Amino acid sequence: MCGIIGYNGFRDADKVLIKGLKRLEYRGYDSAGICVIDKKLKIYKDTGEISKLEKNIPSFKGDIGIGHTRWATHGAVNKINAHPQLSDDKKIAVIHNGIIENFKILKEDLKNKGIKFKSQTDTEVIANLIKYNYKGNLENAVYSSIKKIKGSYAIAAVCEDEPDKIVGARNESPLIIGVGDNENFLASDITAILKFTNRVIYLNDGEMCVIAKDEVTVFDEKKKKLDRQEQMINWNFKDAEKSGFPHFMLKEIYDQPDTINQVLRGRVSEINRNIEFNENVEDLLKNGVDSINIVACGTSYYSGLVAKYHIEQFTKTPVIVEFSSEYRYFGTKNKNSLVIGITQSGETADTLGALREAKKSGCRTLVVTNVTGSTATRISDAYILTQSGPEIGVAATKTFTAQILVLFLIALKIGVNKNEIGPGELYKHILDLKELSRIVREVLENSNKILDIAYLLKNAKSIFYIGRGVNYPLALEGALKLKEISYIHAEGFAAGELKHGPFALLTKITPVIAIVTKDSTYDKMITSIGEVKARGPQVISIADEDDIEIEKYADFVIRFPSNTRHLSFIPIIVILQLIAYHVADMKHCSIDKPRNLAKSVTVE
Ligand code: GLU
Repeated sequence: MCGIIGYNGFRDADKVLIKGLKRLEYRGYDSAGICVIDKKLKIYKDTGEISKLEKNIPSFKGDIGIGHTRWATHGAVNKINAHPQLSDDKKIAVIHNGIIENFKILKEDLKNKGIKFKSQTDTEVIANLIKYNYKGNLENAVYSSIKKIKGSYAIAAVCEDEPDKIVGARNESPLIIGVGDNENFLASDITAILKFTNRVIYLNDGEMCVIAKDEVTVFDEKKKKLDRQEQMINWNFKDAEKSGFPHFMLKEIYDQPDTINQVLRGRVSEINRNIEFNENVEDLLKNGVDSINIVACGTSYYSGLVAKYHIEQFTKTPVIVEFSSEYRYFGTKNKNSLVIGITQSGETADTLGALREAKKSGCRTLVVTNVTGSTATRISDAYILTQSGPEIGVAATKTFTAQILVLFLIALKIGVNKNEIGPGELYKHILDLKELSRIVREVLENSNKILDIAYLLKNAKSIFYIGRGVNYPLALEGALKLKEISYIHAEGFAAGELKHGPFALLTKITPVIAIVTKDSTYDKMITSIGEVKARGPQVISIADEDDIEIEKYADFVIRFPSNTRHLSFIPIIVILQLIAYHVADMKHCSIDKPRNLAKSVTVE
């Protein structure tokens, strides 16, 4: 959840660390701090955003250091609990992402040995454990300490007596090494170091590394040196910048025509009239898919719900979609099922837990993720990348679109493999898919009306979103987007459910956004809109350009291009994202970094 960065090289470490922390801030940002070695360990930390830290920080001399943005799990948000955490002799500093489950026992034990603690964090225990085990070599001390720790961690440690190295270690929390020329980095994710290098080495659970200026060394869990190859990351730094948009979220919404092309590129072939994945998934999607479990959290969970409609429709295969945090402990794990995990970061702790449980029960596992080399890709039988580039806005936009599109392709592929979709039908889908990027561009270019609707909605206390069929999970996602960034209470409902309870909450001042598509759900949606109107609220409908009829029922209509057939879910989601964005913008909310939320949830 937090962000980690370490630097050892020839530049001013404080500047590199602050730059890296700014890139990591989206992961969690209740407090932050850095430690630079300038003979002694020089530490500065504060609550609040990195810009505040940057403004007040004294300039440190030194070309080696570590930095951290914290998302508190143990101990209040304050300066003392912010990282880096120091050992009681102030010689060892540690930053940590994760949770040490046995920290209380370890703390008691260390207290009994005379060690004094200042913070309430589990992290301070690690710093003191390393100090306790320190006999002149930091990597040996870290190694002995992690053997005592239970839980999840990515850590970086420095020691005043060995000012030439940073030692890192990971278990169930992300940590990567960035390789440069006469400088090396350690970070929670690539965006933190992309400004300086795109050469990366991934660490696996249980591994440890030593970052010197001119060398990095990786050790396995038995402390045996590993020969780990570096990988080139082809995201460029500009990808991760705002490209002139006021917020990352808006830029990422506008990235979507390209995102769609990236998802389809190399996978959907008009010439071969086929869908193919470069990733090694053919067997997994072919053999014995009798039932499918989808596990995911948050927005990814809603993309799973969208996929359920497509997979069941195209393949006649039953799909159960469950929150990872529930499936992990309660879900039925049938070893003849394919379990699909959806996680943007590939590091979502609950989804990793669910995938591990599925694997333990003998299920085959497939992951849909945006991050190559992430933990999810390594613990599953196969993975498919959403190929959306970095997403900085905490509220997922382009990665959601990429997920639902990848899952749509998976549905088509299984349908073809099961002979539920013939060549003619597949070809029609392929032609529709080829038009999709253009359609989304059209939606974005003609989105002015959404500003008027946003103006109408911005003072609402509560907003309902309704839809049927695949539009129901879109209603859930539309409502989630709005509440995440505008802090307006919003709920998504299956339109048929309103009369079974939610109507009690509907007042004249509760705007209702109704998603209406010209398919088998159309007449029922018109009935639902009628029921809503009878109780007084204003209805804003998202509808097909050719749908004249809807004008009779809805107060306002936002249009998407007609003839999108099965793919209307993509332009609709873009409209829902724009509504949420503009409402939040008019309310001057912190759009890219909504309160209490973090981008990648790497704690359970
Ligand atoms: N458990 C640690 C703390 O509360 C680290 C939390 C994080 O991952 O930011 O300080």
